[in-house]
Amino acid sequence: MWINGEWVYAEDGQTRSIINPCNQEVISVVAEGNRTDAQNAIKAARKAFDEGEWPRLPAPERGEKLRRIASLIREEKHEFARLETLNTGKTLAESEADMDDIASVFDYYAGLADKDGGEMLHSPLKNSESKVVREPVGVCGMITPWNYPLLQASWKLAPALAAGCTMVLKPSEITPLTTLKLAGLLEKAGIPKGVVNIVTGPGETVGAELSESADVDLISFTGGIETGWKIMKAASRNMKKIALELGGKNPNIIFADSDFETAVDYALNAVFFHAGQVCSAGARLLIEEKWHDRFVKAVVERAKRIRLGSGLNPDTQMGPLISAEHRDKVEKYIAIGIREGAKLLTGGKRPDGPEFARGFFIEPTIFDHCTSDMRIVKEETFGPILTVETFQTEEEAISLANDTIYGLAGAVWTQDMNRAERVSRALRMGTVWINDYHPYFPQAPWGGYKQSGIGRELGKTGLEEYTEQKHVYKNLQPQPLRWFG
Ligand code: NAD
Repeated sequence: MWINGEWVYAEDGQTRSIINPCNQEVISVVAEGNRTDAQNAIKAARKAFDEGEWPRLPAPERGEKLRRIASLIREEKHEFARLETLNTGKTLAESEADMDDIASVFDYYAGLADKDGGEMLHSPLKNSESKVVREPVGVCGMITPWNYPLLQASWKLAPALAAGCTMVLKPSEITPLTTLKLAGLLEKAGIPKGVVNIVTGPGETVGAELSESADVDLISFTGGIETGWKIMKAASRNMKKIALELGGKNPNIIFADSDFETAVDYALNAVFFHAGQVCSAGARLLIEEKWHDRFVKAVVERAKRIRLGSGLNPDTQMGPLISAEHRDKVEKYIAIGIREGAKLLTGGKRPDGPEFARGFFIEPTIFDHCTSDMRIVKEETFGPILTVETFQTEEEAISLANDTIYGLAGAVWTQDMNRAERVSRALRMGTVWINDYHPYFPQAPWGGYKQSGIGRELGKTGLEEYTEQKHVYKNLQPQPLRWFG
């Protein structure tokens, strides 16, 4: 673990084996931290915030160091990408794209670090001056998931560093490798010790300590909704600020005037990318009834041809799920879908063949005749499962799409731009794509309506989350008020 600028073992010497989900080989052994390790890291971050130079450094200098991190990541892009693929099972092409995105997140916040110097106000009081300054929020706890390990970490680290915060980050206990590798570059980039601390270990101990600690001023969490509930409750103890990026059950709405081939292509990409382990996965296909048979047939035919395998093999299009435990969960959902009366059109099982024997693979799976009251439609399966619902009118499409506790993302496909606008406004979601699926970039905010979360990452808001606003009022001619005679 990386605490106070040094590599340390877990205080009680515990370790954890890190597994390649493609074949269950042990690829690394890392320290398994506990509450004491988390407390040590919080202490280091607290000292670096209260007494250290980082929060007091001129913002342009912080920006320069962020730019340096971006270029160090680019220099080692291939090693980072390979490690992410070994640890998560995603294809190398996906990991390489992730690394490009991560470098651009650091570049983006490097550029923003010195842009918001506060604001002079028009004071309504005579002989006075009034201004609003932004200050770093303090010590930040950060907890990240396993699906985009370094990418999700970068969405938190880069803006928090730009703002002048100090931090303790806990990566998912099963995918810590790229985050630890990044820790190795921080000193080179000139980040002072204690500013960024990385503690590996379980959520129930290390994560809980970060959420509960009175010395942590903000907790930023990306992960599942159940964990989000726990973190929100724990954070209330000292009323720390919270930022939550939770799950989604995202509709991909296709009207029958869309470009057929493109919509089919993106329907696959929306859900089967990274084996469906994407918070914004388009796992609900809402298709206009008159296109239903033809469209679903085309999607099923292509889903059957998706090549599963090791992410390191350039021919692979879809890798395994992250763990045996997660595959169990996805298989349970497949059984639930069948029990609920949805019609299984393809997949629903582990692929045959010796090359898949030790990996956590599941075939691309499509259920037809689904309704929005089915658990398989309502709950996030986080696997390669597509559910199909049909609609007849625009109103029906909107009402089905919004019939969910989530509100992370969704897409609408149509050539009628007035309709596209109407639907995009009616969707209660943090991101809506028109005639596309999945694009995101550092300039645009990312986050959810409803139970998909609180706050936004990326964009200007992503930086503001790590700041407090302070109003400073100056009386230019102080005189006795004589209110009390
Ligand atoms: P998870 O909630 O199981 O775990 C996420 C992190 O929380 C891990 O680091 C884990 O150790 C930690 N954790 C677990 N219990 C904890 C506790 N009691 N206190 C504090 N921390 C605890 O989620 P996961 O399975 O790793 O990730 C998948 C989930 O993440 C999905 O629901 C997905 O939608 C969501 N996600 C959301 C976004 C987004 O931007 N909205 C992005 C990626 C993933």
